[in-house]
Amino acid sequence: MNIANWLHATALLRPDAPAIYHGESLYADYRRFAQEASHIGQRLVQNFGLQPGDRVALYMQNRVEYLSLLYAIWWVGAVAVPINYKLHAKEAAWIVGNAQATLLFSDDGMLHDAADLSSCRELGMKDGAFNTLVEGAAHDGLAAPASVSSNTLAWLFYTSGTTGRPKGVMLTHGNLMAMSLCYAVDVDNVSTDDTMLYAAPLSHGAGLYNFVHVRFGARHMVPQSGGFDSNEILGLGASVGNLCFFAAPTMVKRLVQAAKAAHADGAGIKTIVCGGGPMYAADMVDALDTLGPRFAQIYGQGESPMTITAMRREVISGRDHPKWHERLASVGTAHSCVEVRVVSEDMADMPAGDCGEVIVRGSTVMQGYWRNEEATRQTLVQGWLKTGDIGYLSSDGFLTLTDRSKDVIISGGSNIYPREVEEVLARCPGVFEAAVIGAPHPDWGEEVVAFIVVQPGSAIDAAALDAWCKSEIASFKKPKRYEFCPELPKNSYGKILKTELRQRLSST
Ligand code: AMP
Repeated sequence: MNIANWLHATALLRPDAPAIYHGESLYADYRRFAQEASHIGQRLVQNFGLQPGDRVALYMQNRVEYLSLLYAIWWVGAVAVPINYKLHAKEAAWIVGNAQATLLFSDDGMLHDAADLSSCRELGMKDGAFNTLVEGAAHDGLAAPASVSSNTLAWLFYTSGTTGRPKGVMLTHGNLMAMSLCYAVDVDNVSTDDTMLYAAPLSHGAGLYNFVHVRFGARHMVPQSGGFDSNEILGLGASVGNLCFFAAPTMVKRLVQAAKAAHADGAGIKTIVCGGGPMYAADMVDALDTLGPRFAQIYGQGESPMTITAMRREVISGRDHPKWHERLASVGTAHSCVEVRVVSEDMADMPAGDCGEVIVRGSTVMQGYWRNEEATRQTLVQGWLKTGDIGYLSSDGFLTLTDRSKDVIISGGSNIYPREVEEVLARCPGVFEAAVIGAPHPDWGEEVVAFIVVQPGSAIDAAALDAWCKSEIASFKKPKRYEFCPELPKNSYGKILKTELRQRLSST
């Protein structure tokens, strides 16, 4: 089944319902949204010979036309390749080439000036490409989307690539549907009165949440700023109400800081879905204290998009539960449509509480990597997705992530999970952010090194941090060195780049 059927169905059922907003101005109701998608899809076929299965790349900022373009691609059975607009032009061009896209929509139509796009035709939004394609859409009836099977490729999702080249994760219409149904069951209830705000790139996690909101006929909003502006979001919450959005942990921290400065309590924000990186328990407590019970958490990866485990608002804000603190540091329990196991290197189940690699099987798991059989073979093993994440399951099914497998530090033969040390540092008064890595050591193999961003106005030093860690964790886990820095290196999705921290150490 074509995921665009959801838009078609909602447009037939509630044509006049408001669908897409730019800030607080209405851009399209559901009739218009579906007409644009259907009309543009037909035009892409007529004008450019687009065929089912062809790849169409989108390298553009979050904008109201983004959703219509995505659905236009699916309407005619083609494959969308959304590319993070924060990537360098050369990186974007590499993805266009790797996906063998035949069409590319870009902001300014200038990507071909920066890199060779070979046979890909580029259409610039600023050159009026969208306006030309959409002309006449208002007079269209609503032809149904192309009929495709659920295992037809829909979205080539390029991994964020904290190391090496990104890989194209092949997501089918069926994967996207399963993911969306899981959202409504396991993450948050969705209603027609909700507004899904796209404050993070639509090419990644934030964009994946559009489907379930289309199915429910909810509102979609691209903020005026086009990105994550904490004060704008606090203002939109107050004026729009029932605001929902995805935020990486760094964005949550920025929002909490802004709310504290403005004495705001997040009124009108319904749900902040947090994920994409470790959300330290201390930060979550701070966020709850400041903004109230508005948080859900998800753990996923492009390879099982946004859907491995989840923790609903009731669990995150359930302070009375005897295991509340423990659960806050976890990423929740398995989504409804996946099985989650923690296994040893030979794929044997680890006992509850023991660390191993997290593996996943179910209807959200990708088909494989685009034209990369070797990587697919290494990642999909015996029908299971090897996530590369290390964690442990509690006896009641909560998964706690300790690290990416390659980030585990082995010092004097002991495994040290940076996440555990980072949790301790995050609780230390005066610390804004911390990242822990292993540095080569002649005697111990590796030693623990912490990179620290100090809270503005605080004068915390290495001795104070050392005393804090001494009082909280075993001394073999304690950082042997503290490196102070004004900020941590992050990729365009806000993930900390530990490879870059390692390079910094090796070059000093
Ligand atoms: P990506 O495919 O770019 O979305 O990256 C996925 C990776 O981000 C996962 O494999 C985890 O290492 C990390 N990640 C995602 N969600 C969480 C979370 N809630 N807590 C900790 N790490 C996370």
